[in-house]
Amino acid sequence: MKNYKLDTLAVQAGWEPKNGQERVVPISMSTTFKYESAAELAKLFDLKESGYFYTRLGNPTTNALETRLAALEGGIGAIAFSSGQSATTALIMNLCRAGDHIVSSATIYGGTFNLFGHTFKQFGVDVSFIDQDASLEEIKAAVRPNTKFIFAETLSNPSVKVLDFEKFSRAAKETGVPLVVDNTFATPALCRAFDYGANIITHSLSKYSDGHACAMGGMIVDNGSFDFDTPKFPVLSTPDPSYHDLVYTKTFGKFAFLTKARAHVMRDIGNILSPMNAFLINMNLETLPLRMAKHSQNALALAQFLESHPKVLWVNYPGLESSPDHEKAKKYLKAFGGVLTFGVKGGAKAAEKLMDSLQLAAQLTHVADARTCVLQPASTTHRQLSNADLKKCGISPELVRLSAGIEDSQDLIDDFKQALDKVDC
Ligand SMILES: *Cc1c(COP(=O)(O)O)cnc(C)c1O
Repeated sequence: MKNYKLDTLAVQAGWEPKNGQERVVPISMSTTFKYESAAELAKLFDLKESGYFYTRLGNPTTNALETRLAALEGGIGAIAFSSGQSATTALIMNLCRAGDHIVSSATIYGGTFNLFGHTFKQFGVDVSFIDQDASLEEIKAAVRPNTKFIFAETLSNPSVKVLDFEKFSRAAKETGVPLVVDNTFATPALCRAFDYGANIITHSLSKYSDGHACAMGGMIVDNGSFDFDTPKFPVLSTPDPSYHDLVYTKTFGKFAFLTKARAHVMRDIGNILSPMNAFLINMNLETLPLRMAKHSQNALALAQFLESHPKVLWVNYPGLESSPDHEKAKKYLKAFGGVLTFGVKGGAKAAEKLMDSLQLAAQLTHVADARTCVLQPASTTHRQLSNADLKKCGISPELVRLSAGIEDSQDLIDDFKQALDKVDC
């Protein structure tokens, strides 16, 4: 499927039925798979042959989804997890040991911020959060001898800042660590992050990839561009005692990272995606390019409307010419995405009144699905963060995150118009 374009891969990649087989990938609701001989099973357990033997380590429906997203991103392979958080957890466990270190942009999803800043700190993995606008020299200076990766989001949640790929990939290259990019908000439909220097891509599939708010999932995609066969990555380049002293880089070459993530992390942690969710997300990915175009179109229309409204204090959307990220957005993104943030005059209270007055747009803890929704991150998704951390993540108390759905854009503008009429400020 390598030479096809994105729209084609979205519907065709991952499942190529043979004569008489199902047109649509079947849902393999089976924990296990039958074999004729003990010798065959042993070969699978030894990773000498590939095949399904237990759904915790691989499943045909899940594999179809993995293949499709890997094709969309231009990776050599991918592994699905039960959620985006679970994928990031697997990423850390696959590369780090106690005593190691991560450099991360501070402008990231609140859950990832907590995972790096608190949870994994308890297990001895340290993190340095850096300002996404830090200079190349500052980013490089944050990298220590024990740093295992640099992490950032293509389009950050919720502040929709656009990653300066050139700067971050240069910093990663010049310090000899992989650049890991969370491509959840952009998706491969808007940004093929590997083309701009990402070495590994992570996803929360619960957002645009599913896109209908029906299934949670996560993914890690690798394009094999980073060479882990160095003493800096003993977890991949020295014998693994939990796997007959197998050396992943020697045995699997470019597939070392992905093989270990499946054969070791997934085996031990069991944070797998259910085949049912894999089926749903796989189906929904078929319309990803169409949906991303419409989400982006609606978000731009709403951003322009809000920016011109006298009761609106500020609008932050990379598609607006007023955005400091507009040039970067044009350089790296095919369209500007479905999420924007804004603040109304009158602060947090006025924001609450506005949100309560919306009739079409719903208030919920979600983003990136077919229906328009709003949320106040400071009181919800980012509630556990201190005021100082909120500031680091670029979130003010009055900030409203608006996720544009795929409804008619005039209906959406009318909804915000009537709600703003009810706000006095
Ligand atoms: C939602 C989100 C996550 C976490 O994903 P879940 O599927 O909710 O666990 C990670 N990164 C980004 C950018 C997100 O928006």
